[in-house]
Amino acid sequence: VQPSAESLKQTLRDKGVKYALAGYVDIHGIIKGKFVPVDHLDRMLKGSELFTGAALDGVPQEISDNEVAAMPDTATLTQCPWNPDLAWFASDLYLDGAPFEACSRNILKRQVADAADMGYKFNLGIETEFFLFKDSADGGFEPISARDTLAKPCYDPRTLGDNMHIVGELVEAMNSMGWDVYSFDHEDANGQFETDFTYTDALGMADRLVFFRLMAGEIARKHGAFASFMPKPSATRTGSGAHYNMSLADLETGKNLFDTANGEDTYGCGVTAMAYHFIAGVMKHAKAISAVIAPTVNSYKRLVRKGSMSGSTWAPVFVCYGNNNRTNMLRIPSQGARVECRAADIACNPYLGSAMILAAGLEGIREAMDPGQPHRENMYSYTDQEVRDMNIEMLPQNLGEAIDAFEADPLSRLVFGDAMFESFVQYKREEWTSYHTHVSDWELSRYLKFF
Ligand code: GLU
Ligand code: MG
Ligand code: MG
Repeated sequence: VQPSAESLKQTLRDKGVKYALAGYVDIHGIIKGKFVPVDHLDRMLKGSELFTGAALDGVPQEISDNEVAAMPDTATLTQCPWNPDLAWFASDLYLDGAPFEACSRNILKRQVADAADMGYKFNLGIETEFFLFKDSADGGFEPISARDTLAKPCYDPRTLGDNMHIVGELVEAMNSMGWDVYSFDHEDANGQFETDFTYTDALGMADRLVFFRLMAGEIARKHGAFASFMPKPSATRTGSGAHYNMSLADLETGKNLFDTANGEDTYGCGVTAMAYHFIAGVMKHAKAISAVIAPTVNSYKRLVRKGSMSGSTWAPVFVCYGNNNRTNMLRIPSQGARVECRAADIACNPYLGSAMILAAGLEGIREAMDPGQPHRENMYSYTDQEVRDMNIEMLPQNLGEAIDAFEADPLSRLVFGDAMFESFVQYKREEWTSYHTHVSDWELSRYLKFF
């Protein structure tokens, strides 16, 4: 039952909220929207907040097109922990009274509905890795704290402790919204942190991830720092993944259908036959999916074997799956009857990313696809040639390759719809070309006087 506008208005007033934000996202999954004084809430709930899509990155509209309206999903009402004056509603875009096809949230909703038609609910937990830095006087950035330069900061309680005024506040904020953080730590790179919280349905998790980035940024800023969701800020440190932990539940009973209590374990990794089909579907479309879950030029500098203090990056390079083995793109952790996609990074638009993965996984189930034997060995130890000989594909090496794969895969258009598909390809290809045609310092130092 939807709460009435009057009762919602009263709830907001009781909480001391002054302004409401009907937040939708652009192509990057960045929240946008206007602040509406609570007095005008009833209008806002009917979609009074109109936007010209052409003003946003990647939203396929002409300047002359009719405006899109943001329709708040009242179930997502959230008082912003860093600013109690403000409440946020995740919102869907509408055009001329109907759901706007090219809205990221609608794209995921369509996919969730497909899963529901098959009797499934898609459960998703996204791990958030990110960096905290400070602006430096020379216009660059510097470590968040003096000790955050340890040679091995991974899991170090000292470096986490130094930054508890930020990370602790963030965790408290997450828990105040009922996200149920179960652990947080200093990650492998200097200034890199991770907060992990309980999974929920995919739409709810995507809402949380886009809100998380906004919130972490605002809390860091309050403390004179900034949060970075750039996938790979340093060539010699690990990057920031956003591992998608996925399972399908029976829509009626809520039972986890990847749990071997509910089915046979084909390859002995601790999940059911259905999970292996899902994995096979994701592997089939992995290259196209990469363009969406590793969406920047910089993302592909993370997807390499070497390039961190600890030797390995913990990031995937090949389209393969296995048991509890972090060198696979798709890992089956020893607990939780779930599949973890490790290729996703923290710069992804989680609505689009989870829509693509879900569509691929459902195709795998429908066609009972077989992913073959799992990889239990260290995949980083193979050369590219050895990997090719094993008939394993590489993930795209750069954004250009990923976009080509996205464009060539019929699944992309099916999931995104025509307008968003074309807009994504155009936007991302321009991003790639702009980078590719730039002459960098690396090239100058390597070639200028070389020949
Ligand atoms: N930071 C690694 C990545 O880029 C992941 C480390 C981990 O397994 O938590 O995906
Ligand atoms: Mg991690
Ligand atoms: Mg993980």
